[in-house]
Amino acid sequence: MATNNQPLFSHTWTKGHAIVIGGSIAGILAAQVLSDYFARVTVIDRDTFPDAPAHRKGAPQSHHAHGLLIRGHMIIEQLFPGITAELRANGASSARNVVPLALVSPAGKLRSEKVNDEFIAFSRYFMEWHIRQRLAKQEGVRFITNCEVTELLTTADRQRVTGICMRQRGADDRIETLQADLVVDASGRHSKTPEWLVRMGYAAPPEENINSDIGYASRFYARPADFPAEWEGIIINGRPPHNPRAGLILPIEHNRWHVTMGGFAGHYPPTDEAGFLQWARDLADPSIYEAIRVAEPITPIRGYRTPENRLRHFERLDRWPQRFIAMGDSVCAFNPIYGQGMTTSALGALALDESLHQQLLRPRSDFERQFQRRIAQTVAAPWLIATGEDLRWEGIRLRGARPRLGLRLLHNYMNLVLQQAREDLVVSQAYANVLHMLDTPESLMHPRVLIRVFAGTLGRLFGNAPSNPNDPGPFALSPEAIANLQARKGFHNV
Ligand SMILES: Cc1cc2nc3c(=O)[nH]c(=O)nc-3n(C[C@H](O)[C@H](O)[C@H](O)COP(=O)(O)OP(=O)(O)OC[C@H]3O[C@@H](n4cnc5c(N)ncnc54)[C@H](O)[C@@H]3O)c2cc1C
Repeated sequence: MATNNQPLFSHTWTKGHAIVIGGSIAGILAAQVLSDYFARVTVIDRDTFPDAPAHRKGAPQSHHAHGLLIRGHMIIEQLFPGITAELRANGASSARNVVPLALVSPAGKLRSEKVNDEFIAFSRYFMEWHIRQRLAKQEGVRFITNCEVTELLTTADRQRVTGICMRQRGADDRIETLQADLVVDASGRHSKTPEWLVRMGYAAPPEENINSDIGYASRFYARPADFPAEWEGIIINGRPPHNPRAGLILPIEHNRWHVTMGGFAGHYPPTDEAGFLQWARDLADPSIYEAIRVAEPITPIRGYRTPENRLRHFERLDRWPQRFIAMGDSVCAFNPIYGQGMTTSALGALALDESLHQQLLRPRSDFERQFQRRIAQTVAAPWLIATGEDLRWEGIRLRGARPRLGLRLLHNYMNLVLQQAREDLVVSQAYANVLHMLDTPESLMHPRVLIRVFAGTLGRLFGNAPSNPNDPGPFALSPEAIANLQARKGFHNV
């Protein structure tokens, strides 16, 4: 191991050892990157990992629909080449020439087209399990499970992290230590890093909290064999300020649907049969209700409440220990309804790769702080999207955060974008690219989009446009499909 205060990789790096705290999405992706730079990578998780794709205690969020954005999928394929084919071969849902996802925005259903490329979909636990299996095959990577990291080890002057303290869960609660050249915190939303920093004599990071009081209720269904092929999945957003109910159906492996109802600002979807269906019925579009009424439920309904968007500004701290970094939800945890968490973790893994590569070429003593600055950049756009949208609701509480200047103006412009996206494929694709993190939110201000949005708005104002802005527009299922489903005997007839 390098001597005190030498920058990472300044010598003998090929013999190095990296520890990752947390073996969930952020931890797996980080460990995959680290395995290119360190001889040994140890992933420690307090959970025991299942032998086959299944939910696990340490990631209870997998009971709720997890959409992987296109950008996230691209990065995961880049880090684990061939993983998409592997997921498909093991049962992931796969289709061509389909509308992958119908999107019913607060302004109504957005225009969408069938795509010729393969659309592949899977549950979170299915993907997590498969990428963990791939990671386990990497030379030098090992997992320590059922073991909780309780503390960071440091040099006497506390300038540098030298390893971790961990408690084996179970019979004897044995405490052990493990030395490392780099420790990565990927322990999620409830990370202890702020407390550890304070105990080591550092300041706690400034935090922004935007409390949206989100509630989820979810269940798995068998996909009805002859369900109309109008889309593969669907998202129905809430309609501020009056309808806080959202819902989604994601197609997943083995011909199933993962169905989640969501509620904003303290409106929590019920977890009983009748209440769950009534919530679906009260969505702004009837398509999810009609779909699940005829789909066979295969699990009970599970609830989840997650109060806040939280961003820890580690990059703003004046002092930061060497050989320690944090990423994933431990830095920034979003209101999950926008589906950004896994993709932001994937962007963090790319940032880690870039930082380590540069460090290898030109070692610098502030590698860790540079990395935290990069992570802060990767979370900026998704944070803006999630919190900007949340702040449309009454009753959202802010701590350490201020609504950005011009937010009302931005909301008004986004309303016009969505109105236009109902009719205009160029605008709806530009919007989808932002949601999928393929483009920045600023791209919606590009003249190519701006001109169409303002021309469409003027057209609607002066009566030349095909639709009235207050008209909810067509539903996500065609009238024929809805009539057809309504005629069927359902599993539920509430
Ligand atoms: C209800 C819900 C729905 C979501 N939906 C989506 C979605 O649609 N799309 C999307 O991209 N994201 C979604 N997310 C976010 C997504 O789950 C996370 O962003 C993603 O899992 C990455 O998080 P992570 O790996 O940083 O942390 P986590 O997934 O929370 O994992 C942390 C890991 O660290 C372990 N751990 C914690 N503390 C310790 C310790 N002291 N010692 C050892 N191990 C420890 C835990 O056991 C766990 O395995 C959703 C989240 C929630 C809550």
